[in-house]
Amino acid sequence: MARIRIWIQTKPDDTGRSRYQVMCSEHGPVGDPHELHASAESAQSTHHHDHKAALPHRTE
Ligand SMILES: [Zn+2]
Repeated sequence: MARIRIWIQTKPDDTGRSRYQVMCSEHGPVGDPHELHASAESAQSTHHHDHKAALPHRTE
């Protein structure tokens, strides 16, 4: 079963803001980095549901 998590990217050379990249153990980076954690959580949830739709016989 794939693991989907939010990877926090820090940018010390920039404004100091972090970005949140959704990472999937099967697909790697999911979409583009998000500036808001809540936005990344939304994308994480969406990808999680995509997995459930693609793998209907597997449960977590
Ligand atoms: Zn995936």
